[in-house]
Amino acid sequence: MEKIMRRKSRKIMVGKVAVGGDAPITVQSMTNSLTSDVKATVEQIKRQEAVGCDITRCSCPDEESAKALKEIVKQVNIPVVADIHFDYRLGILAAENGAACLRINPGNIGSEDRVREVIKAAKNNGCSMRIGVNGGSLDKRLLEKYGEPCAEAMVESALEQAKMLEDNDFREFKISVKSSNTQMTIEAYKKLAAKCDYPLHLGVTEAGGLRAGTVKSALGIGSLLMQGIGDTLRVSLTADIEEEVKVGYEILKALDLRHRGVRIISCPTCARRGYDVQKTVEELEKRLTHISKPMTLAVMGCVVNGPGEAAHADFGVCGGKEDNMLYIAGKPAYKVKNEQIIDELVKLVEAKNA
Ligand code: SF4
Repeated sequence: MEKIMRRKSRKIMVGKVAVGGDAPITVQSMTNSLTSDVKATVEQIKRQEAVGCDITRCSCPDEESAKALKEIVKQVNIPVVADIHFDYRLGILAAENGAACLRINPGNIGSEDRVREVIKAAKNNGCSMRIGVNGGSLDKRLLEKYGEPCAEAMVESALEQAKMLEDNDFREFKISVKSSNTQMTIEAYKKLAAKCDYPLHLGVTEAGGLRAGTVKSALGIGSLLMQGIGDTLRVSLTADIEEEVKVGYEILKALDLRHRGVRIISCPTCARRGYDVQKTVEELEKRLTHISKPMTLAVMGCVVNGPGEAAHADFGVCGGKEDNMLYIAGKPAYKVKNEQIIDELVKLVEAKNA
């Protein structure tokens, strides 16, 4: 099997987390509490940390939110990116209050003078930046030039902004060119990847709810990753706060790009199954979210494909007529009753994770 060759990008730092170059592809998310509500925002970030989030982002729509970052960053372990729109002064304030990175949108941040002020604040406070172009909020001038949002317009917008940063001797930035249209997103990132070596933050924006958003993101982000494009990603979902991170890792695991926690291989089940495979998988997914060590679990209904899959897993269960065979390190170990399967697997996985 051919290994995915990653595009060579420069490495930048988002706080203590490296993005680009040879750094692992990082998984990001965003909070949806009011950033000015320090307690609620810290609580959300802690939940994201628990499922492996590397970097999070908080919206800063007002002064109170930008100032709240000061307290938030003291209480969390992952770097916080400040999401800035419309008002460049909030970017400056966020940088002064502990943001590790400033996400600015070239379509609405304003004149070159204002961007220069934000760059100055980023430099003075050790912040990196993200140029976050969004198909839905493109610069009016580019919209007039191209007639409608398109990949070319997004790339032009990103490169214009990149040049502005470079002209101010600032290169600690990454770029995203997101659209809610999957194909447009893929096209934009491919064009951008060919034109610069900045690290790319992947995402299909406003992707939708858990199911539709996961599919769209897996296709959009996944196909770019398969082409070696992408240094960090955010799956954008209208769902519970942990889901974006979990789906992000699933995409990376599916492509063998980065492993964290348990990868479950399970059969779709049929009349041959020896136990309730669906319920077992659902319960295991819930009970194993805290596991960080990469491992594989084969949850198989019967002996048709069970032994084959279990042979390549750290742990496995293969359904039988009366009892079910538990596998450890690919070998049959001992038999368990249906009602023991979940607890037994959780016990084994937790012991290996310790
Ligand atoms: Fe059916 Fe067995 Fe295949 Fe599962 S492993 S789908 S139970 S034949």
